Amino acid sequence: MTRTEKREYMRQWRKKHPGYGAAQKRAWYLRNKERVHEYNAERRKNSPKLHRQYDQRSMRRRKEVAREWLHKEKNAPCLDCRKKYPVICMDFDHVRGRKLFTLSHAWRFSPSERLKERKKCELVCSNCHRIREERRRARIYLPV
Ligand SMILES: [Zn+2]
Repeated sequence: MTRTEKREYMRQWRKKHPGYGAAQKRAWYLRNKERVHEYNAERRKNSPKLHRQYDQRSMRRRKEVAREWLHKEKNAPCLDCRKKYPVICMDFDHVRGRKLFTLSHAWRFSPSERLKERKKCELVCSNCHRIREERRRARIYLPV
């Protein structure tokens, strides 16, 4: 079955089964979890090359989404010096709670996890971030 055929088939199927939505799909999945996993593992084993491609594609997409989100979050003035810099000059300073991961490398994490981590941070420019860190280490005195 080609992609177009499959799409057409699914359209017909949905017409025949009205009211079958995400909740039902989820329930079916939960009932047949093992079967689904077995089926997927089998397919993965039978065409590893194809699935490597799928994995790469989804990885690329996730990285893109994460980068876009990051750029949107970092597109604001620095909290310390109030100046606006290009996105690449902005850092997240973890100030609350325990740091679980670095937000800039967090494409593996879900948007909600990223948001939770983001709430522990303040947005500062890289210069102010260095100054903050140096103050924390209390190695030298830095005037304001
Ligand atoms: Zn700054």
